[in-house]
Amino acid sequence: MKKKYLIGNWKMYKTVQEAVVFMQQLLPQLEAIRPLAICDTALALYIAPSFLHLPAIAALLGDQKSIQLLAQNCHHEAEGAFTGEVSAAMLASIGVSGVLIGHSERRNYQKEDHPLLAKKIKRVLEAGMQPFFCCGESLAARRSGNHKAMVQQQLQESLVDLTPKEIETLVIAYEPVWAIGTGQVATMEEITEMHTFIRGILSNHYGVGNVPILYGGSCNPQNAAAIFGCADVAGGLIGGASLEADQFVKMIMALLA
Ligand code: PEP
Repeated sequence: MKKKYLIGNWKMYKTVQEAVVFMQQLLPQLEAIRPLAICDTALALYIAPSFLHLPAIAALLGDQKSIQLLAQNCHHEAEGAFTGEVSAAMLASIGVSGVLIGHSERRNYQKEDHPLLAKKIKRVLEAGMQPFFCCGESLAARRSGNHKAMVQQQLQESLVDLTPKEIETLVIAYEPVWAIGTGQVATMEEITEMHTFIRGILSNHYGVGNVPILYGGSCNPQNAAAIFGCADVAGGLIGGASLEADQFVKMIMALLA
């Protein structure tokens, strides 16, 4: 059975108190769902809250592994005089499992480019965590038919220094920028086409065939089952619909259906 993934990306939402309430609502529901997953390793659930929430949620989770923590970002250097930044090692030291790298909001607003993202991936791997690499075309690229070229460039220029063994540790999230937070979900054909394309790049260029590829972009409890049913969609990276515990549980149920 292939492992399925669901990640809630909370972006810059929730106070620490609201984050704790969410987890207190979610955890009992996860206990109830657990028997539905064939085995624990078949379902990997993650929350990517703000840096500030991570220690509070880590304390709440203790030893339980029903859901794991991701960070939304980390710095591209291992350490140094970078006021206001957070290193990969700091995140690993409080039990964070992985880091989102290359989310379109960071590419757009923080102007993070391919070489910078390549460095971040290295830092995450050095710290013993898993990189969750986001890629996806802009609306302009989609309209002009350059969507594949754009995604290919994102993958090639940020993964260029990785060995096949390192590539195998990645999770890829295909997130068309025009679908993120817009309510305009990609069609099943578009999703299948791009997942097949990304799979081809990973196997042709790196000889790696088993990297999970998730879809992200306006995925919600109404459309999740259809999206997760597409060929080679290993799960979802969820923004808006991950902010309420009940909605998030509905998405998990869609993944397990
Ligand atoms: C995201 O933040 O990666 C995302 C997919 O957001 P939304 O689900 O709100 O489109």
